[in-house]
Amino acid sequence: MSTLVCRRTGRRYSSDEPIWCSAGGGLLDLEFTPQFDRARIAQRPPTMWRYREALPIRHDEAIVTFGEGYTPLLPADLGGRTIWLKLEYLFPTGSYKDRGASVLTSKARELGVVRVVEDSSGNAGAAVAAYCARAGVACDIYVPASTSAAKLAQIRATGATLYAVEGPRTATAHAALTAARSCYYASHVWNPYFFHGTKTFAYEVVEQMGWRPPDAVVIPTGNGTLLCGAYLGFCELRAAGFIDRLPRLVAVQAERCAPLHAAWRGGAAPAPSAVAEDTLAEGIAIAEPLRAEQCVAAVRETGGEFVTVTEAEIVAAWRQMLRMGLCIEPTSATAVAALAHCELSGNVVVPLTGHGLKAADKLAAFQ
Ligand SMILES: *Cc1c(COP(=O)(O)O)cnc(C)c1O
Repeated sequence: MSTLVCRRTGRRYSSDEPIWCSAGGGLLDLEFTPQFDRARIAQRPPTMWRYREALPIRHDEAIVTFGEGYTPLLPADLGGRTIWLKLEYLFPTGSYKDRGASVLTSKARELGVVRVVEDSSGNAGAAVAAYCARAGVACDIYVPASTSAAKLAQIRATGATLYAVEGPRTATAHAALTAARSCYYASHVWNPYFFHGTKTFAYEVVEQMGWRPPDAVVIPTGNGTLLCGAYLGFCELRAAGFIDRLPRLVAVQAERCAPLHAAWRGGAAPAPSAVAEDTLAEGIAIAEPLRAEQCVAAVRETGGEFVTVTEAEIVAAWRQMLRMGLCIEPTSATAVAALAHCELSGNVVVPLTGHGLKAADKLAAFQ
């Protein structure tokens, strides 16, 4: 059983209703108790759906999947020590957003939704568009006009209706919100089912480490869909008794757009004060993160920290990864760059979140 709960008022809603926010316009969380059957999990194919009893979809027929997930966890020598790189760019659409899109689109299908709207800086839109194509659900995707050309082409190619919105990322969000008045909002930020997909990142890491938690995870963060998903997943595993502690969660932002970092440090201004200037890390350039409070709380509770990285550091880390044969996009390099800023011991995991071909134009210009 599962119930939608308003984060602000605690009001409860049936998960059979096709809603994505509370009656008062508040963010919803999904209350759901996952089950884990380790013996069955071990026998299933290596996809994120091996944790079937931990995913809040009632009917198998509703599941929308490309067989995604269970991405490699690769040891790599970085800065004189071993870091565990989780290759989250090896997804059907080239980013970990497929985790969220798979669960969210499955839920939409279970609800009988025939059309969705979504907005993103690119990768979430590409993921939702592809899963909707597979599910036969119509979709309208809003993205900033400045998004990498390859991401725009990828979205358009699915047959989704693409709206490239001029102006900042916030203008795109407002356009999508207006459209969502008459359509199911498959938002990776508003919709709680997305986080019940991204949480499988934590399950996989723990299983791949022999059902032990890592000591730290370093995550590029804008709206916090991987950060909050990972936190949820680790918390669920702890509640189920599979791990006895949470890894430290280190959230990384581009120095040029770091409102969560400011909120965490307790700066004077509330979170939405930062301006999304041009940064190479377009995937995390979020000036007004909706779940700011939740992101900061997750980092605090795990004893983690927020780290910012400069454009020069992003370029250097990106080059280092490319030279190692890891074709990632610049946004993903922020987490690698952050390693130099924090003292982390034990097993450290860095997700490499997006594929380099997403940024084909920047890649082509790269020396
Ligand atoms: C979405 C995304 C992230 C994380 O962004 P959030 O806004 O925190 O969800 C990181 N890297 C890439 C490549 C992404 O697409």
